[in-house]
Amino acid sequence: MASLSLTLGIVKPDAVEGGKTGQIVAHLEQAGFVLRAARLVRLSEAQAGAFYEVHRGRPFYAELVRFMTSGPCLPMALQRIDAVAHLRTVIGATDPAEAAAGTIRKLFAESKGRNAIHASDSQDNAEREVGFFFAEGELAGLWDGKNVDSKG
Ligand code: ADP
Repeated sequence: MASLSLTLGIVKPDAVEGGKTGQIVAHLEQAGFVLRAARLVRLSEAQAGAFYEVHRGRPFYAELVRFMTSGPCLPMALQRIDAVAHLRTVIGATDPAEAAAGTIRKLFAESKGRNAIHASDSQDNAEREVGFFFAEGELAGLWDGKNVDSKG
């Protein structure tokens, strides 16, 4: 049976700067996600580099770190039934030109690099990434799951 889990989303600097944060959070809530933690942060180069460590060596790595440090972003711990898979579906493909209609990247992203939102791509990464930004005690108190039972 599907179970409640957490994943990490980040409203990226292009979307924060473009005034899309509220619309993106509303979109996530409409999709059944509940915010358990969120904080506006300006990442340092070291933090962005560590967060995207897996991409070190890829051609877009330097551009990605530059972009992610260019302004504030909003990391969010998001809870839902099957949170990781659902968030990947809701955000859409990396390149907005290839993203499905109605997805966050189709609606709000500018380009493959400046693509509005990050989402963890596996359960292991979700745990690592939630822990990267939030301490256990910062995750808002236990939530009973009432609002998502019908949307699982
Ligand atoms: P996703 O964010 O969809 O999981 P990846 O993990 O492949 O995508 O890449 C991480 C991030 O790096 C992307 O969201 C995007 O901001 C950036 N990126 C990936 N590929 C490119 C590219 N070819 N050119 C520029 N930026 C890219």
